Amino acid sequence: MKIQDIQAIQLLLATPKKIAIIPHRGPDGDAMGSTLGLYHFLLKNNHHPTVIAPNDFPDFLAWIPGSETVKIFEKDTENCTKILEEAEIIFTLDFNAFHRTGEMEHTLAKLTAPFIMIDHHQKPDDYAAYMYSDTAFGSTCEMVYNFISFLDKKQDLDKTIGTCLYTGILTDSGSFRFPGTTGNTHRIIAELIDLGVENTQIPVMLFDNSSYSRLQLLGRALQNLKVFEENKTSYTTLVQTELDAFHYVKGDTEGIVNYGLSIKGIDFTAIFIENKDENIIKISFRSQGGFDVNQFARDHFNGGGHSNAAGGRSELSMEETVKKFEDLVTKLKI
Ligand code: 5GP
Ligand code: MN
Repeated sequence: MKIQDIQAIQLLLATPKKIAIIPHRGPDGDAMGSTLGLYHFLLKNNHHPTVIAPNDFPDFLAWIPGSETVKIFEKDTENCTKILEEAEIIFTLDFNAFHRTGEMEHTLAKLTAPFIMIDHHQKPDDYAAYMYSDTAFGSTCEMVYNFISFLDKKQDLDKTIGTCLYTGILTDSGSFRFPGTTGNTHRIIAELIDLGVENTQIPVMLFDNSSYSRLQLLGRALQNLKVFEENKTSYTTLVQTELDAFHYVKGDTEGIVNYGLSIKGIDFTAIFIENKDENIIKISFRSQGGFDVNQFARDHFNGGGHSNAAGGRSELSMEETVKKFEDLVTKLKI
């Protein structure tokens, strides 16, 4: 981050402020962990922060400290709009383009308070007065840790802030496996553990709290998996009737996409999930090695993300979407 920007932010934060903190729509562990980590830090510094999520977060993240204070724009639009309009500073975390907040984008576009972006996605939009944007980082939570250090406030880090940040570093690094994971990531993790963060409990809360029906849904997704060995690609699908049959709740499909990469010789995978309410197919892409799924998602499926993890959407039917994907894949050199 630029030294002038750090100084300007220090000045902004020198007196108590009303601050809105916003994650992307469909908030994941990194979005929730980074916004709530920053929330606790700002609270400790006598500010009045509110985390406003565009839509609800999944149950498996509902234990993160402070999650009970998060306001949901979609459910409480009037009140959230008022908080946003009154905010003197607006942080946007774990995304870099207003459209990633869905319907909320129109409200954000009208705000006049300065925006501060902290994010690790490619191609940031130009809306922030201050930007800490770097794709080298595996998680926004790691950047929030750095942001607190830049402000010379490391002494404020505690178990609560640490628990939030640990969560996003863990989830966005695929449990410390993805290439963005560095020695520094582990040094930060070590510091957080020293602050009392319960590093053995957090993965249990996140990953070992499954319902029976979620496991059955995973079973169905694994049965639906198709493999194109020659193209080092696999993909799976879940249609609405399957989601309904296994009593799908928000968060149940989280992580399923990764199984497609666990097959020997497969370097690119996707999951296509039907959403009848929105009349779209939501897609997640994952790769290992050099194949850039961010570019693939941008070029063909109206999406984006990172080079090894991206998402997108299709307004075609499931059959047509999958056909389009198969046609693309057979031409790919991976
Ligand atoms: P996921 O597959 O877990 O939903 O998303 C993987 C990554 O891609 C995340 O970093 C997420 O922010 C990004 N991503 C997911 N969906 C979209 C999308 O529709 N557009 C863009 N630009 N990025 C997305
Ligand atoms: Mn992230």
